[in-house]
Amino acid sequence: MREFPVHPSEYRYNTSPVFSMGVFPVRIRSGMILNEVTDELIHLFDSARSVAVLTGAGVSAESGVPTFRGGGDTEIWTWRGKHITELSSAELMATDPKLVWEWFDYRRGMLTEVKPNPAHVALAQWERMFEDFTLITQNIDDLHRMAGSLNVLELHGNIWRARCLRCLSTFEARECPIEQNPPLCLACSGPARPDVVLFGEMLPEGIFEKAETAASRCDLFFVIGTSAVVYPAASLPIAAKQSGAKLIEVNAERTDISFLADVTLLGKAGELLPQFIKVRG
Ligand SMILES: [Zn+2]
Repeated sequence: MREFPVHPSEYRYNTSPVFSMGVFPVRIRSGMILNEVTDELIHLFDSARSVAVLTGAGVSAESGVPTFRGGGDTEIWTWRGKHITELSSAELMATDPKLVWEWFDYRRGMLTEVKPNPAHVALAQWERMFEDFTLITQNIDDLHRMAGSLNVLELHGNIWRARCLRCLSTFEARECPIEQNPPLCLACSGPARPDVVLFGEMLPEGIFEKAETAASRCDLFFVIGTSAVVYPAASLPIAAKQSGAKLIEVNAERTDISFLADVTLLGKAGELLPQFIKVRG
């Protein structure tokens, strides 16, 4: 288990001189900024043997999923007068699990009509192109699986899954709104909670370690739809760079990760990712 909490915004990239003076042995230079996938990039992609991808809220946003503090200066969200960091907290789960479920039901309700977009579809195709491919996501909406991705490392869990507070087993909880609040475990009838990482909680055991291993092993690492500034996910592109991988960022605008990236692709992931596998003449 990791010893650092999941979401604290103060754990942002340290962009102070200390960072660039070599605390991390990362070669810092300004990467290329592009608006389309060039032949050179396609060549880099085609010749990669191991690819790892980290996706975040921006990819879901292109499907119409609302972003909650998606990154940078997004608006602060409240619901029933409570801040979302309070609603999605381990503290509230301990004191008022019914309210937490109501909040998650509200969020699940917003997802019922949402469909994967061309970025999700492209990533599912990428998985089939490489012998060694790892998809890591911060998203909990299940859109990668819906698009056909088979192996997804869900750093923050899945909103359509519940986890028993008593025996810890997990089960699908797709009905929305849930029939019983809290839903009861299929194995032991104990009360269950959403199987998502709440503020103040650790990441699910083993998942982050797998992501770290993939980041250290790959020769091409993509950061897509996230500024990846929140630890521990932020350490993944750094781990990839330290191991010699090329880092490609795909975001709507430049982010804090841009200074690390070899290439920053500005635009919609749904338009850019399919360009890597477009039919080439
Ligand atoms: Zn149980």
